[in-house]
Order: sequence, then structure tokens, then C-alpha cells
Amino acid sequence: MDKAQHTYDGGCTCRQVRYRMTSRPLIVHCCHCRWCQRESGTAFALNAVIESDRVRLLQGEVVVIDTPSNSGKGQRIARCPKCLVAVWSNYGGAGDAMRFIRVGTLDEPGALPPDIHIYTTSKQPWFTLPPGTPAVAEFYKGAEVWSKESRERWAAQQAKQSPAARAPGPSPKE
Ligand SMILES: [Zn+2]
Ligand SMILES: [Zn+2]
Repeated sequence: MDKAQHTYDGGCTCRQVRYRMTSRPLIVHCCHCRWCQRESGTAFALNAVIESDRVRLLQGEVVVIDTPSNSGKGQRIARCPKCLVAVWSNYGGAGDAMRFIRVGTLDEPGALPPDIHIYTTSKQPWFTLPPGTPAVAEFYKGAEVWSKESRERWAAQQAKQSPAARAPGPSPKE
């Protein structure tokens, strides 16, 4: 199967919410910021950034909780209404057009390893950054990191949004 056409299914712990990513994401962030550490209760967050219309709910509904975020613009975390596991976020900086899928909720989370490590200034000291994967102290410029295909997909998705909802991308920041 063409890799780009691959789909990825995931869901919450109680299995009330099930979803499908209908293609590969634009990029996978491994975020070492304190906010992600606190929200996950662990050392970092793994977020697969993908167009919202490439995420389909297969089963159940999500509740969306407004939550503060690092950028100050806030994030909307989609959770299972029963077990409250977070399955994705929309961040203020990237608008509603993009979802940040929590990679750990996928049935096969190992299928989407990080493309880049971000906010490594606050990484936990025992974590050694793997050689060969880009890493930045804080955030990055999309044009310098994203593939051409991802930049084109981002631009196409932004063009579908109302002017007020467009993000100053391509750099989907938390
Ligand atoms: Zn659940
Ligand atoms: Zn973070």
C-alpha cells in the first residue's frame, strides 16, 4: 500500500471513543516542554499533526475541554467523556484546521516515531536525544523542517479556512 494512503486507528482506554487518521500526519512532534510533561504526567508528549478533516470519529463522541497552553493562546483538548483520556488537541496557534493527535492513543503508536524533538531546553535530564533526529531548543520554522508535501498540505488546509481562522503558518505551535 502507498505509505501516504496508510490509515491509523486509535482510541481511549475504555474504548468508547475510536478514531481513524485517514493518512500520514504532516509531522510528529516530540515535545519536551513543561506543559506537556505536566499534562501527560511523564517526560514528553508525542503529537502527530494532521488536518482535522483527515481524522474521523469511528465510534463515540469527544468532550472538548478548554485548557491553558504554553503559547498563551490556549488549547482545546478532546477527551473521552467516560474515561477522560485525551485523544487530540487543537491549539490556538494552528487553529481548528489542525489536530494534534496523541500518538500514544494509537493502536500501533510505534508506527509514528518523532520527526523532531522540540523544547529540548526543558527535557528531563535522563533523556538522551537520539542521534539522527532533528532537535531544537524551543520551536522551529516550518519551512526549514517540513517536507514539501507537508507544506503544500498545510497551505491547502489553511486556504479552506475563513481568513480570521487562518494560522500564520506553517508552524503549528502549541
Ligand atoms: Zn474512554
Ligand atoms: Zn509541549
